[in-house]
Amino acid sequence: MVARVYVDAVDHLEPAEKYPWMEKGACAGKDFEEFFPHSKQDADQIKQFCNERCSVKLKCLAFAMAAEKPKPGHEEKDGKVRRHGIFGGLDGKERAALQKVMDKMKEGNNDGNRDS
Ligand code: SF4
Repeated sequence: MVARVYVDAVDHLEPAEKYPWMEKGACAGKDFEEFFPHSKQDADQIKQFCNERCSVKLKCLAFAMAAEKPKPGHEEKDGKVRRHGIFGGLDGKERAALQKVMDKMKEGNNDGNRDS
């Protein structure tokens, strides 16, 4: 399963057996390499597959976003976060953009809390 391979790759999380939702992914049993496409056309097909066929898409996306957050002791040498593959119907660039929006919203909420 794709998410399982990803967990092994990022080496940040507990074993994937901990997350039963992964067995419900539409990608279960598929070749995980398909979810790490090398062309835009292939990426678009995989995104469409996730978006149209997967009932656990949001859990998959949340899982990937959490896995990709820099963690103490796991920083990349260049300071960048690795975001490979398609998860939750989004590619790495799209997840990075989503993370930026989420960070800004959190920043805004924290500013609001200071005023109260
Ligand atoms: S969203 Fe895509 S990669 Fe994630 S579990 Fe579903 S089919 Fe697999």
